[in-house]
This record gives sequence, structure tokens and C-alpha cells, in this order.
Amino acid sequence: MAIMALSRRTEGIVVALGLPPTGLADKLGFRQHGFASFADLTEALRDHNQVVVVAAYPIVVRALATTLSSKDTDPAVVAIDEGMRFATVLAGAHHGGEQLARLVAHHLGATAVITTASSIYDTVALDQTPRVHFGHVPAGLQARINHGDGLVLVNPTDLFLPDAILALAHEGNNPLKVVISDRMRDESLGDLRATAPTLTVGVGCSSDATVTEIDELIETTLQNAGLDPYAIDRVATIDRRLNHPALLGLHRELIGFSADQLDAVETVHPSSVVYKSVGTHSVAEAAALLASGDGASLVVEKVRADRVTVAVARRQRLRGSLSVVGLGPGSLDLLTPRALGALRSAQFLVGFSRYLELIEPIVERAQVVRPYPIGQEIERVGEAIALASRGNHVALVTSGDPAVYAMAQLVIERLAEDLTLHIIPGVTAAYAASSKAGAIVGHDHAMISLSDLLTPWSAIEARVEAAAKADFVIAFYNPRSKQRTWQLEKALSIIAQYRQQSTPVLVATRVERSGATLTVTSLAEIDLETIDMETIVIIGATTTATNHGYLYTPRGYQPTPGHQGAP
Ligand code: SAH
Repeated sequence: MAIMALSRRTEGIVVALGLPPTGLADKLGFRQHGFASFADLTEALRDHNQVVVVAAYPIVVRALATTLSSKDTDPAVVAIDEGMRFATVLAGAHHGGEQLARLVAHHLGATAVITTASSIYDTVALDQTPRVHFGHVPAGLQARINHGDGLVLVNPTDLFLPDAILALAHEGNNPLKVVISDRMRDESLGDLRATAPTLTVGVGCSSDATVTEIDELIETTLQNAGLDPYAIDRVATIDRRLNHPALLGLHRELIGFSADQLDAVETVHPSSVVYKSVGTHSVAEAAALLASGDGASLVVEKVRADRVTVAVARRQRLRGSLSVVGLGPGSLDLLTPRALGALRSAQFLVGFSRYLELIEPIVERAQVVRPYPIGQEIERVGEAIALASRGNHVALVTSGDPAVYAMAQLVIERLAEDLTLHIIPGVTAAYAASSKAGAIVGHDHAMISLSDLLTPWSAIEARVEAAAKADFVIAFYNPRSKQRTWQLEKALSIIAQYRQQSTPVLVATRVERSGATLTVTSLAEIDLETIDMETIVIIGATTTATNHGYLYTPRGYQPTPGHQGAP
């Protein structure tokens, strides 16, 4: 079965017929090509997934005319006029084009121009619905939705429908009937069928099985059962086969279970031969059922070829996912590509309202944003987990890194069964601040939160003292707020017992956000009044020094000539 035609296109490019806009390519993480010819432009359109073109639109349209082939494979193309006023989606609107236009507009201070019908009428674009695959949506059906027809869902397999799918349904005349099913034959129950990832394929194989053998057996098994290959959620097997090249070669998400776990599952075709060789009476059936969660049912019993067995189970609830995403300190170009990917694929974005504002330019119309006031961490985590347990993809956003005085820990403590957790790292405030001034965190360093809301002050004080004594560079998070006014002063007085008054101190406020300030001062001269909850304070070690205006802590190498050593 052709699982995925890997695109030969590479990621993004900014191509300009004249001078490219300064810094735009860097902010997008794209390549850049300035003073391009018409031939360069067509080549860029052929070879990239995302193309930002700076040129007069008629030229771009002429280049597109020779390169576009199909809505599914065309790149997302955003054109900007040379006056940098309008970022207009010209192709791939539903494949990242709209988001790219908003991102480019955000970086350039331009206006994003988006003209798809669904954005004008504020209706759902069926082919963009998360969690389901629609295949080809005839233009006439989408037009009916855009012009006010209703939509009802038909659910013949009794799937527990996640919010993202339920949101498709709406009132209106002459409603379109959309069937949610993994069975081909259910097509006839409505106007259009969509597939959700309901099926787990269980696979057992001997050590000399090949990927072609497995692939073919899966394909014919699904075909004979009238099941849609797009409904495959993942492949399940016994853990000792997880690294088998034939299974890895399927390019599917894999999950493995131990022989004991598998043997505890009641199956239709237990086999004592299998038990003798691997310690469980069933691999394919048991693994498919186990991976499909509560309420799973076996829809295809064990089928075998020479060296392979396959069985298929159906989930009752889709497998939700929760990504705890570190946004970095603030600016969108410090968001990692992985974080961006997780934000893009989420149906729900949950988090502190200020952090959600930071990512506003990249939020899609169809995404649901759940902003929270400061605090209420337990409620935020609870809602994120509940939404993911209902089969949605959820992103819980935090600033900086999600584990640094943030929420990843709480999520792990409260995690529910059968959902996929991704913790996605981000650039933490201490590193963002350090790099603005040089490399003050350049040797061993300690991060200490001065908030005594969750940690007793005596413990904080003991850690400050230990870090000071051991000559760590010390980064203070949560240094001072309107209510917590004395803690920083007290911490600094402890440090003063071990370090000279001239020790460099970095005070960085709103790093990578608008209104950022950065001050290099010293233990003696630090001005506490400038420090608030958006400030990070980094105290140098005894070796911290400056060179050519950069603040750094050497790794112990010989200093270069001309270096002004630490006092
Ligand atoms: N998870 C975050 C930290 C949350 S604790 C991270 O990894 O960065 C909140 C504290 O982090 C703030 O009180 C402040 O001390 C620091 N902080 C977070 N973002 C900051 C920024 N952009 N500039 C300066 N300090 C910041």
C-alpha cells in the first residue's frame, strides 16, 4: 500500500525579485534568494513547501501558472508587494498558506490578505477539518456549506465523536449528511464520508519477515474487510519486534506490549505455538485490542500469511494528544519548529491569556483558544487533559520551557489513560537573557525561583546559600512581585557573603517581548525597583567577566589577551 508519497520539496524560501526584506527569512527559518530571475522564481515554487515571494503580483501569477499541479501537492505561496504592504495568499490556502500570510504580515507590519470562501463566510473548510480525512470534497458540497446549508453527522459505528468533529454539525436548510466511518460501504449513508483514525492494526511476524509482506497483508486484509486505510491510527505489536526493520519500514506510529500484557488479553485465536515461541498466546489480536483503549472491538480476526499475522481492532474513542508546548521567551522566531508543529495541529489551545496573545498571529480560525487568567494552573491542566481525553489534539502553552517553573510536572502528575503526551521544550528565560548579553550562563549555573508560594522560604534560602557557596552562576526566576517584595533583597544579602560587591549582575526584563530592557549592573548597584515579575536576574560567578562589551562566564580556558578579568 502506498503509505505516504514523501514530497521531494524542502521547507521554506523567501524569494525576491529585488532586495529581500531584512530579517524575514531568518524569522521564518527559511532560506532566502534575492535579486532572483523569473527562472529562479519558478524553481523556488517547484522545490519548496512554503514560498514567500516579494514581487509584483502579475509576475508571481505568471510563474505559478507554469508550476501548480494539484491542491494536495502545491506549495503554500504568499506574495508581498515591494512596498511590503500586503501579504496575500496565492496558493495552498488550506495547506498553511493562511497561517504563513499572517506570520509574514506580523513580521513585516503588513496586512494579511486571505480570500478563501470559508474565511469570508466564516464557515468550516471541510477538507481542513481536524481528526478526519475527507478525501476529495466536491466544490459543490463546500459551496452549499458556504451558502448556509446545514450539516448533520451520521455515525454508524457509534464512535465517541471528539469536539473537533462535533463542531462540523450545524443547523441550516437542506442539511448535508456527513458520514463518519472507517467502512467504505457506509459511503451510501450520506452525501460524503469522512474517516477518523479509529483502527489499530495488530501485527505479529517472524524475524525474517519483510516490509512488503507485512504491507501487502495489511492492504488485502483491510480491502477484504471493506475498511479504509486512512483509518489506521497506528500499528501494535509485541515489544521485542519494535525495532524490526520490516515494522519500522511501514513508516507508521508503532506501539509495543510485553508478552505478559498481551497474554492477559482475551482473544479469538489463542495459539500454543505462538506461546511457546514468544510467551503469549496472541500477538496480532491482543496487541490491536490493547492499543485501542477501553471499549475496543476486534473488527478483523487474525489473518495470516507465511511469516506475518494481522488483526484489526476499532477504537470507541479517538486517541487524543496533549502537547505541553514551551513558547520560548516571547518572539515567534524563538519558537522551535517542533513547537510550531504542535500548535498547528492542535484543535484547542489552552493557557495563560498573555502567552496565548504572543502566538495570536499563528492561530487558525478553526482553533479554539481557551485563555486563563494568571494562576489557576490546576484548572488549566485539568481542562487540557479532559479535552485530550475526548479525542482532541490539545496544546497547553507555557512561556519559556514547559518544565521550568511551569506546568509539565503538573500534567504528568494528573495524566489520564490512553492519551499521547508530548513535552515540547522551549528556550527558557535564563538562556534567552544570557544570550542577549553574551554568555553569562557559560559555566555551571543554578536556576532558583524566589517564589515562596509553593516552596517554603527556608528551602529557597538553603539553595541560594549552597549555590552561592559553590560559585554557581545563579538565575533568579520570579524575583519580585507587588506582593513578594523582600525575597530578592534577602537572597542578594546571602550571596554577598560569598561574592564581591563588584560581581556582575544581569537584569533582563521582558526579554524578546515588546518593551524589553537589559541592564548589566553589579551586586552593589542593582536597583530593586526596576525588577518585576517579567524580570530575570542573573548573578555572575567569581569568574564572570566582560570582553568587548559581552558578559560571559569562561569555561576555564586561558583568557585571551586584552581580556578584563573578573575583579
Ligand atoms: N517557564 C518559564 C518560566 C516561568 S516562571 C521559562 O522557562 O522561562 C516566570 C518567571 O520567568 C518570571 O517571573 C521571570 O522571572 C521569568 N521570565 C519568563 N519570561 C521572561 C522574559 N521574557 N523576560 C524576562 N524574564 C522572564
